[in-house]
Amino acid sequence: MNKDLNYPLLIAKSRIAGKGAFAKSLIPAKKKLGNMGGEIISYREAQKRVRQQPHNVLYMVEFDNEPIALDASVNVNALRHINHSCDPNTFMRRAYRKVEFYTLRTIRKGEELTCDYGETHHEGTLPCRCGAASCRGFI
Ligand SMILES: [Zn+2]
Repeated sequence: MNKDLNYPLLIAKSRIAGKGAFAKSLIPAKKKLGNMGGEIISYREAQKRVRQQPHNVLYMVEFDNEPIALDASVNVNALRHINHSCDPNTFMRRAYRKVEFYTLRTIRKGEELTCDYGETHHEGTLPCRCGAASCRGFI
């Protein structure tokens, strides 16, 4: 198992978008799933990498209080595949140069993991397909 993961996850086709991350076994509520794999780089380097990637395949996570970003397109692990949902079962915490994921509730075996990413670089223009009753419609 990947050293950044505390629970075994499966990457498989998602009903929400592309590939998703699924629980291989039951995961209790309020547990740390692990750290998103990637490389911590300066915000300036992040902007440079985004410019050099015409196909928008990069996955950057920015931090609020430091001019750094996590480039999650390198050292990829299953947490990279957690899809957005407006009614998520995990949340992401950015702290101390780590991007951590925690469960909000008990996750059943085979259930897809989801996270509310809030405002994304799509700036509310991308239709949301999460299917939740409380879906905001756009992300
Ligand atoms: Zn939604």
